[in-house]
Amino acid sequence: MNDKLPPMLNTPFFMRNFSLLLFVCFLLFFSCSPPQPTHPKYIFFFIGDGFGVGALTYGENMAREKGDTLCFSQFPVTGLVTTHSANNLVTCSAAAATALACGMKTNNYMLGMAPDSVQMLLPISKIVHNQGYQVGMATSVSIDHATPAGFYAHSVSRTNYYQVAKQILTSGFEFFAGAGFLNPEPKDSIPIFTLLNKNNYAVATSIEQCLKSKSLKNIIIQPPQKDAKQFPYAIYKDRNDFTLPQITQLGITKLSLSGKPFFFMIEGGLIDWAAHDNLPKELYGEIKEFSEAIKVAWNFYNKYPKETLIVAVADHETGGVYISSEGIHFTTDQHSGNIVPVFALGVGAENFSGLFDNTQIWTKILKQKKCNF
Ligand SMILES: [Zn+2]
Repeated sequence: MNDKLPPMLNTPFFMRNFSLLLFVCFLLFFSCSPPQPTHPKYIFFFIGDGFGVGALTYGENMAREKGDTLCFSQFPVTGLVTTHSANNLVTCSAAAATALACGMKTNNYMLGMAPDSVQMLLPISKIVHNQGYQVGMATSVSIDHATPAGFYAHSVSRTNYYQVAKQILTSGFEFFAGAGFLNPEPKDSIPIFTLLNKNNYAVATSIEQCLKSKSLKNIIIQPPQKDAKQFPYAIYKDRNDFTLPQITQLGITKLSLSGKPFFFMIEGGLIDWAAHDNLPKELYGEIKEFSEAIKVAWNFYNKYPKETLIVAVADHETGGVYISSEGIHFTTDQHSGNIVPVFALGVGAENFSGLFDNTQIWTKILKQKKCNF
């Protein structure tokens, strides 16, 4: 019977070294397979735009007066984060979003690009998407605004709104929620909604419509009669207006459908706007709504505590807020260069204590080396 085998396989040498060969194959197989992700299965990345320590103190004081507390104040880990950009002690939201999303400093007004205006940076959202995560973005301002854009777009200027919005298509991310788009139909260009439809994004203008959608990629924006720039401030909302907790819950529902892991960035964008305009009541309304959105994620965490990480951080401070015996004061209508708080709960939360730079959040979530493409 052995006579029918090819001569090579019939040799005593092969028989003697068969187990060695198997071992070499085993080593080759594992050294060629991509490394398994070491990060949590469910990642929530909350960004309170402009939510510095002064506004946090104000929010806590206001909540305490009402016998309440901000939910993330109960998180087991708190840290402090430096926010300067590559070219300024005071960052803008675009450079801050780039630092948070890509783990690298850039110049103010730039999104997802190095200061040389050439090198494109790889955001955490794309890294995990390439590893099979579903990815979602939600904000209380427009979807093409600086903070969410830092997680899916590359642009030398944050104000190239149409060019930024078009990069939703190349991102392939599964869920986007926000007020609308700032420049959806520039002259001589294909309307953004046509491009989204062509690329299998279902665009809904109500929660029900989005829930019913069978599409794998969904976008929800306010109806056309509403302001595409922002949700109404929380304290002026009527019952038809979207809230940050609502779209957070909607995003969780959509991103959970497939059973795959997910990464979900949620921005409280109007905290920054209320602070720019030095509006204390509006500011507290936005802080509270941000806290309620985090509570939605916390409820999810309670179901999957061993698989979920929630990080809540500010991109920078706005308004130069301080508290005196008379209450809140604003010292500017701009951003300041103050350090900002970060809160963490869940898998790997312990890595977020102490004082560190905003570029390190990327590494702390991924726990892997930086790379560019
Ligand atoms: Zn701002």
